[in-house]
Amino acid sequence: MGKLIADRTSKIDSSGIRKVFALAAELEEPVNFSIGQPDFDVPEALKEVAIKAIREGQNKYSQTAGDAVLQNKIAEQVKNEFGWERPAVLVSSGVSGGLLLAFLALVEPGDEVVIPDPYFVIYKHIINMLGGKCVFVDSYPEFGLPVEKIAEAITDKAKMIILNSPCNPTGVVYSEEEIKQLAEVAAEKDVMVMTDEIYEKFCYDGGCPSIANYYEKTLLLRGFSKSYAMTGWRLGYAAANDSLGEVVEAMTKVQQYTFVCAPTPFQKAALAAMDYDVADFVDIYRRKRDLVYEGLKDKFELVRPGGAFYAFVKAPDGSGTEFVEKAIKNNVLIIPGNVFSEKDTHFRISYATSDEKIEQGVEILRGLA
Ligand code: PMP
Repeated sequence: MGKLIADRTSKIDSSGIRKVFALAAELEEPVNFSIGQPDFDVPEALKEVAIKAIREGQNKYSQTAGDAVLQNKIAEQVKNEFGWERPAVLVSSGVSGGLLLAFLALVEPGDEVVIPDPYFVIYKHIINMLGGKCVFVDSYPEFGLPVEKIAEAITDKAKMIILNSPCNPTGVVYSEEEIKQLAEVAAEKDVMVMTDEIYEKFCYDGGCPSIANYYEKTLLLRGFSKSYAMTGWRLGYAAANDSLGEVVEAMTKVQQYTFVCAPTPFQKAALAAMDYDVADFVDIYRRKRDLVYEGLKDKFELVRPGGAFYAFVKAPDGSGTEFVEKAIKNNVLIIPGNVFSEKDTHFRISYATSDEKIEQGVEILRGLA
């Protein structure tokens, strides 16, 4: 047998995370600040809808682009929110599924994708696998949207700009002003924007402005994983208005020969989820954000997160990786910043855990500062 594994897989480097999990395997009851999913369970009412759908036999393939009722409901929602006349909608297997389809449909070898750094890990590795080039734009130390630097980074090879607000790993929410300025830059350069809004419900200090309100060449990706704690149900969607309708169409074509469709019974639950109010969960997570921020701010350099459930904290001395090793030796699991960045100066805390664990973890980290 010749070479088995395709070269493209060598473009994926998961060593940072693997190292954390190898160290973590030895811990007993650690404070786990590494998890990227809510600590609450799927609301009972939504579980019932999924169970009923399974019992009633909704267990076959749905349409490639999604259950027609769900697709229409999503279309109606984005129409109301953004004023899009005829939105194109694709129900995907999580936002990860939507991201893969979008990159497969759009990125050709040599294409540049402009991404604020720090960034969500998936973008970089899939773009690299496809032969695209990530153009990272530094947003340290405040992690606001670096509009001017983005404008400078756009060349004639730029295929798209990626936004992620609220941001994983920083928890930062971009302001309306920043978003409007970026919309102007994107329009001037005629580059599309892909906006990953998976954390849109987790906004603690007012709304989370979406570029979809200000720029028509926006591909919107949203999901159900985080808002309703259904990460294992694999549900998300992509939507665009007329001007990017062909993108959603191309993604649907790729879905037909890859994922085929998102899980059918859970699409029924997604329909119910769209009418489910998560304000109570958001209130609980706002308090967790305060516990972490107030607990660390006098000992560490960190920006107050406005959304999601992460804080991105500067390591007190040395590299992020070194600090993470020290924290793990003290029973706190955190992720080194270089998993999400070209720099290794920070670490990510996920505060999607119990208040007791947060208090315990904050105390231990303070002792290491
Ligand atoms: N985008 C961001 C920014 C994320 O943090 C995640 C999950 N960690 C995803 C997309 C993918 O989520 P899912 O595939 O579960 O919808």
